[in-house]
Amino acid sequence: MEKYNSLIGFIRKTFNSEDFIPLHAPHFGGNEKKYVNETIDSTFVSSVGEFVNRFEKEIAQYTGAKYGIATVNGTSALHMAMLVTGVQQNDEVLTQSLTFIATANAISYIGAHPVFVDVDRDTMGLSPKALQNFLEKNGKKGADGFTYNNTTGRRIAACIPMHTFGLPSRIDEIAAICEEWNLVLIEDAAESLGSIYKGQQSGRFGKIGTFSFNGNKTITCGGGGALITDDEAIAKRAKHLTTQAKIPHPWKFQHDEIGYNYRMPNLNAALICAQMEQLDRFIDNKRQLAGLYDNFFKNSDIEFVKEIEDAKANYWFNAIIVENEQERDLLLTETNNAGVMTRPIWDLMSSLPMFKNCQHDGLENSIWLSERVVNLPSSFRP
Ligand SMILES: *Cc1c(COP(=O)(O)O)cnc(C)c1O
Repeated sequence: MEKYNSLIGFIRKTFNSEDFIPLHAPHFGGNEKKYVNETIDSTFVSSVGEFVNRFEKEIAQYTGAKYGIATVNGTSALHMAMLVTGVQQNDEVLTQSLTFIATANAISYIGAHPVFVDVDRDTMGLSPKALQNFLEKNGKKGADGFTYNNTTGRRIAACIPMHTFGLPSRIDEIAAICEEWNLVLIEDAAESLGSIYKGQQSGRFGKIGTFSFNGNKTITCGGGGALITDDEAIAKRAKHLTTQAKIPHPWKFQHDEIGYNYRMPNLNAALICAQMEQLDRFIDNKRQLAGLYDNFFKNSDIEFVKEIEDAKANYWFNAIIVENEQERDLLLTETNNAGVMTRPIWDLMSSLPMFKNCQHDGLENSIWLSERVVNLPSSFRP
């Protein structure tokens, strides 16, 4: 008798399936084929086309931002966000060690140095207390108004918190700290599209918010991303830089600086427009699933991770916390052997070869969570 048979049975019943159950499968239940066929029929599958413009308006409208810019993926949106807010080579950027690799990679593309601050135990997102402690211990305001790191002498230019698995972190407090220390706040909202904190959409608390539409995200177009902002100059510059820095002209190829081929193809935009139409339905469905899991784990020694007060999570990935690392590995082995896909949370960025020498604050909660968190099947259930 396996220890986790009842969990496996519950998941099979919940997904009404005796087959392999993935962690997160996309669902194409709307106008996907219609819109993609429209782009094929029009031949405008690439850099020109109406779906890109339409999507940029829709993502802005949905989140309540003034501007939206579509990108080829979430990583490029993050990279672009730092480029257009003046983060420079040799700057430092404060972020989580407990995040997906893309956050730390994008900081490296700038030539900046990630510095890893601890997360809160309940949100699994950046801890405002840890952030303030780190800055009080290591930061000093320069005559130019920027914050510098006492130890390295480098400028601390920005802070990139990430809303883990779509659970809103205490982003209003983080925003206030960034204001106090004059740090650019960029929200990595790749996992939290549609999540709400204190009445405000995820991605709307800083200068820029970024999203991902990779195959495993809440809505997907194969690969894609976006950034949102209220700042017109930043929006214009992001659009310019993501489209090879080309100056609009009926026929001339004029480029006024080194740009990037980061635009989203119209083919992908067609798919994401169809997915946007279903976003609220997906989130309702996922919140229902979270409720079922929450109920299942009541009165057990496993903790289901829930949204904090004032937060409405999209529950992109459902997560549990088990007693210790041995228990986690047993659960992972039994469920995956039974064809029910589960996964551990990411290895900490600070443990990876390319980031192991980066400064960090001790990361007590990050280490604790990285040993205990498991993700459970979280797909939309038709
Ligand atoms: C998915 C994700 C990204 C972006 O990923 P892409 O595959 O480049 O779209 C960035 N940050 C986090 C935390 C993510 O989960």
